[in-house]
Amino acid sequence: MRILVTNDDGIYSPGIAALAKAARSFGEVRVVAPDVERSSAGHAITASLPLTYRATPVPEGVEAYRVNGTPADCVALGVHRWSDVDVVLSGINIGSNLGNAIWHSGTLAAAKQALLLGIPGIALSTPSDQEGPDFEALAPHVEEVLQLLLSQHHLPLVNVNLPPRPRGIRWTRQAVERYHGEVVPGTDPQGRQHFWFTVRQIEGSLEGTDRWAVDEGYTSLTPLRLDLTDHEALAELRGARLEPREKAAAKAPVAAPAMERKRITR
Ligand code: MN
Repeated sequence: MRILVTNDDGIYSPGIAALAKAARSFGEVRVVAPDVERSSAGHAITASLPLTYRATPVPEGVEAYRVNGTPADCVALGVHRWSDVDVVLSGINIGSNLGNAIWHSGTLAAAKQALLLGIPGIALSTPSDQEGPDFEALAPHVEEVLQLLLSQHHLPLVNVNLPPRPRGIRWTRQAVERYHGEVVPGTDPQGRQHFWFTVRQIEGSLEGTDRWAVDEGYTSLTPLRLDLTDHEALAELRGARLEPREKAAAKAPVAAPAMERKRITR
């Protein structure tokens, strides 16, 4: 099994070393990751600058390359430079990616980029305090999660969040009820106003959600999909709103030539 490992904290993060180490029990591992931290880069790609792909020694001794781009760039390049990648692992992010945080997450975006290329993607994150996560203590739990996910017959895109000392694993849904992004004003040393776009702690969570699982000490596994279509709204809108206009169009006299008419109504 060919396992491409990436992250958004940068190639020198202890989190990616921990993930590469865990992945080695499951197959051939290659690391392709940003040369600097790109947290909160979301699913951005670098479209206006050339990208470089440079061999870089990493602690685990696996083949590794650093890229001057985003997490999504790293997956695109990694897959371009290594044929037949079976799965992309992204993380282990220093900081959880729960609920609506996943919209901003570069960690998850790397896994999404994998799925866009037809390859299963798994994003892994863990909360962090001032001292940072204890990756050694997490190692058996990471291995357990990989064992479970990599043995699944159908594995598209999974967002994994591990609490510091997991007491089990729960399948969850994304907590979409609240958003934690916040703009906080401040001043620079010269007294000029500036702003921090930051995240505030969300207290409490609904049972069954990713946030709830981690709050309760469980590792949260959330299967995700790329289809953002609101199918319920689509069915409703298709049925109701377009109808009057189409009826009006049917009554209107046809003036345009056949070719053009076809183009307009497409
Ligand atoms: Mn990060």
